[in-house]
Amino acid sequence: MQAEATLNHSCSHLLAAAIKRLYPKVKFAIGPAIENGFYYDFEFSQPVSEADFGKIEKTMGKIKQQACPFERKVVSLAEAKKLFANQPYKLEILKELKGKISVYQTGDFVDLCKGPHVVDTAKIGAFKLLSIAGAYWRGSEQNKMLTRLYGICFPTAKELTEFLRQRAEAAKRDHRKIGQELELFSFHPEAPGDVFWHPKGYLIMQQLFEYWRELHRREGYQEVRTPEILTRQVWNQSGHTDFFMEKIYRVLTPGAKQWDMAIKPMNCDGGILIYQSKLHSYREFPLRLGELGVVHRFESGGEIHGLLRLREFTQDDAHIFCTPAQVKSELKKVIALCFEFYDTFGLKLDHLELSTRPAQSIGATAIWEKAEGIMRQVLQENQLPHQVNEGEGAFYGPKFDFHLRDSLGRTWQCATIQLDFAQPENFDLEYVTAKGTRERPVLIHRVIYGSVERFLGILIEQYAGAFPVWLAPVQAKIIPITDQHLGYGRQVYQKLVDAGLRTELDDRRDTTAAKIRAAELQKIPYLLVVGDREIANGHVNVRTRGKKVLGEMTTAAFLTRIKADLAQKRQI
Ligand SMILES: [Zn+2]
Ligand SMILES: [Zn+2]
Repeated sequence: MQAEATLNHSCSHLLAAAIKRLYPKVKFAIGPAIENGFYYDFEFSQPVSEADFGKIEKTMGKIKQQACPFERKVVSLAEAKKLFANQPYKLEILKELKGKISVYQTGDFVDLCKGPHVVDTAKIGAFKLLSIAGAYWRGSEQNKMLTRLYGICFPTAKELTEFLRQRAEAAKRDHRKIGQELELFSFHPEAPGDVFWHPKGYLIMQQLFEYWRELHRREGYQEVRTPEILTRQVWNQSGHTDFFMEKIYRVLTPGAKQWDMAIKPMNCDGGILIYQSKLHSYREFPLRLGELGVVHRFESGGEIHGLLRLREFTQDDAHIFCTPAQVKSELKKVIALCFEFYDTFGLKLDHLELSTRPAQSIGATAIWEKAEGIMRQVLQENQLPHQVNEGEGAFYGPKFDFHLRDSLGRTWQCATIQLDFAQPENFDLEYVTAKGTRERPVLIHRVIYGSVERFLGILIEQYAGAFPVWLAPVQAKIIPITDQHLGYGRQVYQKLVDAGLRTELDDRRDTTAAKIRAAELQKIPYLLVVGDREIANGHVNVRTRGKKVLGEMTTAAFLTRIKADLAQKRQI
């Protein structure tokens, strides 16, 4: 990781050196390594665009070949100020520094930098400029907009080629692009950060909900529904106003002087209030209350991104109330359920993360230690690959996060399981034990999809829009060759609709090839072509998405096939 960052950061110096040669009047800001590559922020006196990348890369290549050493010099603050006299951003950084200043020279480019770097520019591997964007100096809209150039560097050309191939594939699969092409959803400035589901997209959402309900019923969950807006007082009691305030939508009800209610950012309080409505017995435990709850969180404009980060989304939540003795087996059951879900969608576990007590939290230390201890045991006993994020837990308890790997090898965080001893204390929750005494239940909060909208965004990219039959908005399309075959096409269409399939009939006057192409673009799993021969034989001519021709068969035989796809939730 460190070597990768050093290489990329060194390459940002190489970029800056090339920029200095090509644009001598440029002002330099900063050039760090980031998760995927590096960037450098510049203030140009002339417009620069992606069209200039070739020229910049060529100059970078020349400086690289010269094997310019990264020479470190230590200077006084006064000397540094002289060195960067006409570089206003460097001077601003210098204002915050004291004592000796470390600078690095590469060729004729000098940068204010602590290092480390590679030995000389020849040690920089294969690089590529990736994109250009506007970026405010120090991230503040009050400041000047600079030009940020992104790039990436690898030790070998082979690694760079592989990265670029993956990147191009990911761009083709961008869920925002596919969502538009398949008419699944849209975004509108009238509701920034929220999604508008169109019929086909909402149909897929419904399939995800139904599958969730099916598995959760089997696992002994009961579904509930709690209000969107609750009083300020209850959010105070659960600690959300102390620990989650910056993301809460506040509501000023008519006649109120100040905000007195809030739109729920989490479903927890609703679930807890249902629990509180009567005295529970240990016999009801584990009590598993599931809720497909819509929550709102005010994410900043920079954070919202397609379906992957919305302000309004549906959590496939559940609150499990159980005895301390049941915690471990419940955690294991939830983990097994997560794996069953992900298996259905062809997503693999990359690793689990255990996040422990954050600095800002509620509950006694002993309780936190107990909860974290149980979670570590579960990880060990299930032999799950994991890492520990110290201090990254929820404010009321430690948690597991599942990180999944998709078909492109990218990882995504989905399920979260939180173990909570603190909210039962906060809300004074109780249950009656076998001995007739009153005890506190333990509360497990968990989501499996996470945000259902986000999960669908991931699935769109996972499948590149080519959904398995059970999720496909249109499962089969009938294509009559000419108008004369339309009557027979309608009969087949009706049979499929009667069998419960989501079917379309292409009755436009167009060539068969054009109709097939249109259906292919919509990624419809099955195309049923009907013409003279099919009518004479009472058949349909079946082809699958991806141009595989299965040939003639009876409608009944086709129904048997597609029903098997549905039953097994398999990809065609
Ligand atoms: Zn540096
Ligand atoms: Zn919760």
